[in-house]
Amino acid sequence: MTKPSDEVDSWLLERLVSPHDGAALDRSGRGLRCVGGHTFPVVQGVPMLLRDDVDQTIGPAHQSLEAARAVHEGALPADGLHVGTLGISEREMERVTELAASGTSAIDPVVAYLVGATSGPCMHT
Ligand SMILES: [Zn+2]
Repeated sequence: MTKPSDEVDSWLLERLVSPHDGAALDRSGRGLRCVGGHTFPVVQGVPMLLRDDVDQTIGPAHQSLEAARAVHEGALPADGLHVGTLGISEREMERVTELAASGTSAIDPVVAYLVGATSGPCMHT
């Protein structure tokens, strides 16, 4: 698996807006910023456009916000799988990690696991 770039794709950046005010986003340091001053971390090239000033509708959003902030501040490696943000059990996190380490998955191991867990063959053992 190739290491994702920390750079946000230009095509994507041209189409994204701040979830606070709909303003365009520009690169700012290791993240993105709108003209209204809202800033957003980028993890492995993926802008984390989650708002931290509203109630979250799913629990893993909190873990995603915390992990993105930690990566942005350098407290957490950017190239990890970040399985703690998936809202899955310890055993399921182990399975995702094993799948990634095996190098046998033709697609991203997190995506492969989550698709399997929601609509594909059962990966629970
Ligand atoms: Zn904004």
